[in-house]
Amino acid sequence: MPLLKSWVTSANDADHPFPLNNLPYGVFSTNGTEERCGVAIGDSILDLAAAEEAGLVSVDDMPVFDVPYWNDFMDLGSEAWDALRARLTEILAEGSADKAVAEPLLVPMADATLHMPIVVSEYTDFYAGRNHAFNVGTMFRGPENALPPNWLHIPIGYNGRASSVVVSGTDIRRPWGQLKSPDQDLPAFMPCRRFDLELEMGAIVGTASDGPITVQEADDNIFGYVLLNDWSARDIQAWEYQPLGPFQAKSTATSISPWIVTKPALDAFRTDTPEREFELLDHLKDCGPMLYDIDLAVTLAPEGKEATTIARTNYKEMYYSAAQQLAHHTTAGTPMNVGDLLGSGTISGATKPERGSLLELSWGGKEPLTLDTGETRTFLEDGDTLTLTGAAKGDGYTIGFGTCTGTVLPALKDPYAR
Ligand code: MN
Repeated sequence: MPLLKSWVTSANDADHPFPLNNLPYGVFSTNGTEERCGVAIGDSILDLAAAEEAGLVSVDDMPVFDVPYWNDFMDLGSEAWDALRARLTEILAEGSADKAVAEPLLVPMADATLHMPIVVSEYTDFYAGRNHAFNVGTMFRGPENALPPNWLHIPIGYNGRASSVVVSGTDIRRPWGQLKSPDQDLPAFMPCRRFDLELEMGAIVGTASDGPITVQEADDNIFGYVLLNDWSARDIQAWEYQPLGPFQAKSTATSISPWIVTKPALDAFRTDTPEREFELLDHLKDCGPMLYDIDLAVTLAPEGKEATTIARTNYKEMYYSAAQQLAHHTTAGTPMNVGDLLGSGTISGATKPERGSLLELSWGGKEPLTLDTGETRTFLEDGDTLTLTGAAKGDGYTIGFGTCTGTVLPALKDPYAR
């Protein structure tokens, strides 16, 4: 499909992240107004609460867009999802009869503050990138035991904290934690010294389920995708992770980009998962291309200085799709809720500049990176700003995710000071 032209002319640029082909959903406010749902189009946001009030869009008997989350709309189901997308495409298309009514409802993106697009019901993070798992396993356990024996058979995950998921732009405070380096006899409680990022995609569950679902059903139940940075305290993780996995190392914050790029916007970019050494068991088998060809990048900017691109990779590097992860998640019977968020796991390519974490880029701190400013980094320093970007390149158009940023604030002097 080529670029779909819009009367919002900024959307018609081949490199613009938000053309009519995209229509990502978010929550915004402008100075002194309530948070509400909107859709990005070019350099503007169409105010959907206002559009609903004006009768321009109607998806339910009750208003669903005058709220600061997309959960109510997702809960209406996939017919409503398709109907809204079709209606918005009609309203915003070049030559639309609705232009006169819709144009006054546009808000300049530059005047808007973006908020969390959903209420995160529960958050699960996976470990499903083979290069990442191999690199980290090699550092933690040696190359012979790098991939755990289960890794090629199930997408390994852990239950995270929905309460710690924040929107892009939120500052991230360096955590304290219990650490023990191999040369110490006893652990100490101190600020994290190996604070890191994880470049991931987040999949948002839009349809609830109760009991095991198939990979196809799982794909159907996913509403859309966001960029996700799983902030990680590597020194806390190294001490705590066996045998039950990460806990406090992943509890500081997880940042997501504010625009949900929906599944239909990504349809043209579906790709297969990679070749497998072991055939998956039937309940996890691929049943169509369910990964996506999305270019991803991370920049790091020291405080007050220019940003350096520290990694470039692609979502298609994953070994398991979000649909396979969601299907696996349900096998033992757990209900999934509207608004559940699944982190893909760190996305790393095969070569060094494609690694999606500083742990891998600096090889456990042993090989510092040199930034364009001349400074070096092993892990994050106070004041560093990380920015994740993602875009799928179509025929004369781009499906962009916007950005997912966060700045590291210094650890508190005393986290228990009252
Ligand atoms: Mn992670």
